[in-house]
Amino acid sequence: MSGNPVASPVTAKQFKSEIKPVWCPGCGDFSVLSAVTKALAYLALPQQNVALVSGIGCSSRLPAYVSVYGFHGVHGRALAVASGLKAARPDLTVLVAGGDGDGFSIGGNHFLHACRRNMNLTYIVMDNEVYGMTKGQASPTTSPDWAKSMLTPHGPGVPSFNPAAIALASGATFIARGFTGKPNDLAKLIVDAIQHPGFSFIQALSPCTTYRPEQNEWKKIVRPFDADVTADPIEAAQRIQADDGLSTGLIYQTRLPVWQPPNSISAEIEQLERGFQI
Ligand code: SF4
Repeated sequence: MSGNPVASPVTAKQFKSEIKPVWCPGCGDFSVLSAVTKALAYLALPQQNVALVSGIGCSSRLPAYVSVYGFHGVHGRALAVASGLKAARPDLTVLVAGGDGDGFSIGGNHFLHACRRNMNLTYIVMDNEVYGMTKGQASPTTSPDWAKSMLTPHGPGVPSFNPAAIALASGATFIARGFTGKPNDLAKLIVDAIQHPGFSFIQALSPCTTYRPEQNEWKKIVRPFDADVTADPIEAAQRIQADDGLSTGLIYQTRLPVWQPPNSISAEIEQLERGFQI
């Protein structure tokens, strides 16, 4: 994508619902809301053709704030729900959103298999390295020495989950990292991710101002990757492993067959629905 992501006559404002977000002041998730609506506006997608699915957590409130079809679902199961939706309605643009705890802990197994299945979904994880909604416990991406949670007063003590590395190892075909301090850049990544044929994954560094106020420093140290996107998984792996997790941009993109349901699935779903009729 190039150019201004809000150049379309369909405005980002139209993609915002009338529900006022309840996020804490300064929460990075506000910027993700802005980036998602800018991306949808740029692509001029009909609102009725877009679905946004989430799990549980602060960031998983996103579907309520976007004026498209939404499903605020079960903890860690957003990708499973979204996969089912995409299988039944391949004509829809399906976005999936959530946090690092929802996506990498409770939903970790779904993440692995969504990467390798390569359905045409866009998954945005708002990563703040903490469980914000439940008052600040360590999450899978928390560094081992973060010692501010009462549950882990000496820090979690285990290496943190590396989302980009796990996505690459699991077969994802589009891997990017964005930062909420750069919402227009994040919007561009979301546009590219939606246009990518297959499973696209964006790790959006999204500070939790309440439980991780030190993440406000990210705006001083987050910077773009100093290399262009690669389609070579070995090069991508080396780049990801050499990085401190604070470089942003499209890291890896390749083309692999996109999983699509067989034509008979609609008939099977109708048969299933009939089976559940009372
Ligand atoms: Fe955002 Fe953290 Fe507040 Fe949750 S607790 S809304 S992640 S700032």
